[in-house]
Amino acid sequence: MRRIAIVGAGQSGLQLALGLLDKGYDVTVLTNRTADEIRYGKVMSSQCMFHTALQTERDLGLNFWEEQCPAVEGIGLNLVDPETGEKAFGWSARLERYAQSVDQRVKMPFWIEEFERRGGKLIIQDVGIAELEQLAVDYELVLLAAGKGEVVKQFERDEARSVFDKPQRALALTYVTGMQPISPYSRVNFNIMPGVGEYFCFPALTVTGPCDIMVFEGIPGGPMDCWQDVKTPEQHLEKSLELLNTLLPWEAARCQNVELTDAGGYLAGRFPPTVRKPILTLPSGHRVFGMADALVVNDPITGQGSNNAAKCSKVYFDAILANDNQEFSAAWMQQTFERYWDYAETVVAWTNSLLAPPTAHMVDILAAASQNQQIASDIANNFDDPRQFAPWWFEAEQAADYISSKNMPNVA
Ligand SMILES: Cc1cc2nc3c(=O)[nH]c(=O)nc-3n(C[C@H](O)[C@H](O)[C@H](O)COP(=O)(O)OP(=O)(O)OC[C@H]3O[C@@H](n4cnc5c(N)ncnc54)[C@H](O)[C@@H]3O)c2cc1C
Repeated sequence: MRRIAIVGAGQSGLQLALGLLDKGYDVTVLTNRTADEIRYGKVMSSQCMFHTALQTERDLGLNFWEEQCPAVEGIGLNLVDPETGEKAFGWSARLERYAQSVDQRVKMPFWIEEFERRGGKLIIQDVGIAELEQLAVDYELVLLAAGKGEVVKQFERDEARSVFDKPQRALALTYVTGMQPISPYSRVNFNIMPGVGEYFCFPALTVTGPCDIMVFEGIPGGPMDCWQDVKTPEQHLEKSLELLNTLLPWEAARCQNVELTDAGGYLAGRFPPTVRKPILTLPSGHRVFGMADALVVNDPITGQGSNNAAKCSKVYFDAILANDNQEFSAAWMQQTFERYWDYAETVVAWTNSLLAPPTAHMVDILAAASQNQQIASDIANNFDDPRQFAPWWFEAEQAADYISSKNMPNVA
């Protein structure tokens, strides 16, 4: 039985651990928070996952909330005119297959307990270099799936693949009940405010049942970079509503009767989107292999991190099975990561493109979607596989060709 250690009990680490356990591997998960600490703690993410990523969970029998979790049936987008503060245009389109967001405070504790129920070994420990050294002696493969934990900074930053060295948005989450639904179908409803930031919201399942999650993405130094003095859950909700009342009255109108889901239903923070090199060589010469956010951490503006984590987990799962009884060599690690990067590269490029001021051709595409339902549908459904945005999202000429291929003149 091959012995594998996974550090981190998040989307990628637990999904991989449960998958390998099922295939007869001897798996140990080490993590720095107990199931109850997660369950009764603060929210960590908005974790909206699209069909392909959800399917990786279904394939392992891990979709325990499929029935209770509200479906996210579409994507909507409004672009706000920076001069007037009014909607310049808006559109929405249905997803071919629904998305879902299960609060990580619901999912991760249950998966941790399920892992133990199925015979996995769980160790609660804050893992640093000394612990990694010991793991590398005791296990054939050590995976570091510690998300945004400090320890992941031990992986070398990949300068060629990292665009930013500073946070690009001040982030905040507010989990609420009582938000007025959008009809005729539920959606992630984006509002892009050039120079200010973005706000989006969508239905989810949290510790108290169904809810809506508000996500604020404030450009640093702008009016939505405003969470420093917010100390209590009540103040956080108040600030969220104040922003909507000032900047997005049509969203405020949906929030006349909202309440926080629970005392932990809010979050504020920031981090720099970064790509790191996948192999950490310890002082002893032993190797640790990184995965998901530990190596490729994106701004949440496109809601891709948990999707990436699930897909990374699937790539690694397949590669571990295919490696059979051979050594988990540096070459195997690099090759496995590159297989994941083949997918993640475009996700990173697309996400980063939305952090910069929108280019003229991106505004053309978004505006064209308000005139042409097929374009709106393409954009909405590409959230499931952002590789489909290439090349037309990224180049002005390709964008013009794409728009005219949909029988529309370029709207520029
Ligand atoms: C505000 C916000 C909104 C988001 N919204 C979305 C969204 O809508 N859709 C989406 O797909 N993604 C979203 N994400 C991103 C998503 O949550 C992450 O990308 C995803 O959880 C990454 O999974 P992971 O397995 O790499 O790490 P995580 O899920 O972060 O898990 C890391 C684990 O490692 C443990 N750990 C950390 N350090 C140590 C240590 N030293 N020793 C032991 N254990 C350690 C942690 O306790 C945790 O269990 C959002 C993120 C944020 C911040």
